Amino acid sequence: MAWFTRQKSARPEGEPQEATHVRTEGLWLKCDSCRQIVWRKALDENLQVCPKCEFHFKIDAASRLRALFDDGKWEAFDHSLASTDPLDFVDQRPYKDRLASSKKATSLEDAVISAIGLLKGRRVHICSLELKFIGGSMGAVLGETITRAIERAIDLHIPLIIVSASGGARMQEGAVSLMQMAKISSALMLLDEARIPYISVLTDPTTGGVTASFAMLGDLNIAEPLALIGFAGPRVIEQTIRQKLPEGFQRSEFLLKHGFLDAIVKRPDLRDYIATALDFFCGPLP
Ligand SMILES: [Zn+2]
Repeated sequence: MAWFTRQKSARPEGEPQEATHVRTEGLWLKCDSCRQIVWRKALDENLQVCPKCEFHFKIDAASRLRALFDDGKWEAFDHSLASTDPLDFVDQRPYKDRLASSKKATSLEDAVISAIGLLKGRRVHICSLELKFIGGSMGAVLGETITRAIERAIDLHIPLIIVSASGGARMQEGAVSLMQMAKISSALMLLDEARIPYISVLTDPTTGGVTASFAMLGDLNIAEPLALIGFAGPRVIEQTIRQKLPEGFQRSEFLLKHGFLDAIVKRPDLRDYIATALDFFCGPLP
């Protein structure tokens, strides 16, 4: 805060009040967790993790891939698959409108990027979910894209990593979205039979049908700190079981303590962690 105070007192009398804001806009932001003022560049260099309190800000699917792949490079697959709106669904807005605005906001056709690239020299398939696309929800396109990625990982015999960030199944596609849980899970069984490792990375938030299917089916299920991970929301559970839920319920730390996760890994350590895990599963690179 001292920086701001200095700037303000240095402002000549009569200069418009907005000047201070204009000078600082975009350069600094307030951390959602520790409420301290953080230099945006320091946050960018730390993969959007607060340098003061290690709060993990949400990142988009492409930033995630840039952080994991060598030189931030990858080859994308199935990026032209798009939903056909099979139910012609309308809630508060037509589903077609939601799709159109999400496409515009993210430059993606659906809530996932399917990519192959090198991770510390090892060829891997990574699917990264995009929360900004209708809450990272799983419809037919996401299900098909991930299933194809699994089949490709089997064909090429390369490890699979799925980074989840999702509110669950896409209700605008009804039962079609729920079927994706079974479809992806069956494909993962084939991957398992082919003895190819699958690492699931759960980020804030991973809930609903995504948690209830592929996000919890990894050979390793690892999460970022303090990520919200669950199936139903806490209010629904409290009403169902008529009990108050414990502190920290549905956060990574609680789930690790109760055996639902294998590890909690901070985002800046994630690339190294996955590389080491793959060395363990597949043997070190020649
Ligand atoms: Zn912070």
